[in-house]
Amino acid sequence: MALSDTKAGSHYLTGLRNAHAVEMEALEIMSRQVERLTHYPEMEARLRQHIDETKGQQERLAALLERHGTDSSTFKDAVQVVMGNIAAIGHSMAGDEILKNSFANYAFESFEIAAYQSLIAMARHVGDQSAIGALEQNLREEIAMQEWLAQQIEPTTLKFLSLEEQGVDAKN
Ligand code: MG
Ligand code: FE
Repeated sequence: MALSDTKAGSHYLTGLRNAHAVEMEALEIMSRQVERLTHYPEMEARLRQHIDETKGQQERLAALLERHGTDSSTFKDAVQVVMGNIAAIGHSMAGDEILKNSFANYAFESFEIAAYQSLIAMARHVGDQSAIGALEQNLREEIAMQEWLAQQIEPTTLKFLSLEEQGVDAKN
């Protein structure tokens, strides 16, 4: 019986497709941010690392979807690309862009962590044991990114204030 024949299985497949679209949004958001960052090289480097990790996460999700005979949804992906760019544009108009992005990125990682925890529970429930390793790998990368971002809130805030006090436009 195909996963899509059961209620739980079809929710699981939808979850995998949604996660793929969320990773698409993540790529757009982070790509816009690294283009603009000038005063925060450590943030830029960590975002570039997470962009690479995110591409790997997408590949893992695409492989899982393919194994179940389902493509990632081009429509859902396209919607999230637009959403990601709208979010990036909104923050770029703020005088404290670096801070708004720091909060938003932390929130985004929390969303991803919750999504992968849910997907891992669904994979167990429907008996898709072979997917769990890939989903756990994605989860670990999101947790590591969230922890790093959490540690950066205070130093980034203080660096922003100190540069601004010296008359530097340090918003990004
Ligand atoms: Mg991710
Ligand atoms: Fe992430």
